[in-house]
Amino acid sequence: MTRVLVVEDDPQLVRALVINMQARRYGVDSAPDGATALRLVAARQPDVVLLDLGLPDMDGVDVIKTLRGWTRVPILVLSARRASDEKVAALDAGADDYVTKPFSMDELMARLRAAVRRTEESPLAAGTMFVETADFTIDLRAKKVVRGAHDVRLTPTEWHLLEILVTHPGRLITQRFLLQEVWGVSRRDKTNYLRVYMAQLRRKLETDPARPRYLITEPGMGYRFEG
Ligand code: CA
Repeated sequence: MTRVLVVEDDPQLVRALVINMQARRYGVDSAPDGATALRLVAARQPDVVLLDLGLPDMDGVDVIKTLRGWTRVPILVLSARRASDEKVAALDAGADDYVTKPFSMDELMARLRAAVRRTEESPLAAGTMFVETADFTIDLRAKKVVRGAHDVRLTPTEWHLLEILVTHPGRLITQRFLLQEVWGVSRRDKTNYLRVYMAQLRRKLETDPARPRYLITEPGMGYRFEG
């Protein structure tokens, strides 16, 4: 049974979530504030945490930072906030994905399943050497990409970006994280670099670079590799 911890201070929403999740045979605990959430993650070791960012006692982003000090449990953020800054802050702090309120229960359940599935699959098990898609194969150790019968030539920067994305399949990686990893802290606002390099990667890897199937843009947020 998949165990979910719902961290949310709106009792009506908690009730709706609990009913829906129990109907889908999830085990559910709930916490109305950040302090209870931190205690219950340690005590119950849930498989996934559903976290509201606006809590009465702590900022949800601080809950994420604290959890990430000791656990890799997937964290799906529930945010009423439209500002993408706060979602980015949550993702940079270590959240795995986010859903904006109001959301449909079906969408939420799909994201929840995806978050749990990803931890079962990723980060790629140590020793994973190949990432295969219908269109290309990536050899992580040899740093080689083969598409059809041909090697794809990548620059070191293109390779670095691709490697980060494919080793976190399905996960939204923020622009800021990618810029910092590939170009360094001083360049982390240069989102135009990312656009240029992602366009190059798509030209090299995607059948239709204008409608990418693997290297997906989340506007204003970051990028995701769909394997
Ligand atoms: Ca709230």
